[in-house]
Amino acid sequence: MRETTRDDALTLPEWIAFVGLRNGALLPCASGTYEWMSKDHAEQRKAAQLCRSCPVMDACRNYALAAGETIGVWGATTPADRRRYRRQQQAA
Ligand code: SF4
Repeated sequence: MRETTRDDALTLPEWIAFVGLRNGALLPCASGTYEWMSKDHAEQRKAAQLCRSCPVMDACRNYALAAGETIGVWGATTPADRRRYRRQQQAA
């Protein structure tokens, strides 16, 4: 995973517009099949796996990392993945 800074992330309004413009594309999290906001780790892993086919996965993950999102699956990362990434960045 490459390093992410606030500068290469979308602002929240930009992110909402970005995803909104792609409503015609099939975003896996729009399926409602899996719970992207689940607290269950196994469900989070399933959702993260489905994110891997998403056309906006990198932008989604970059946004979540830069914005410090602590809840939910974003860009194929679980909250635990992002905590681990933040700890690695702080230790570097
Ligand atoms: S990468 Fe983001 S927009 Fe795409 S399915 Fe996952 S959570 Fe949804």
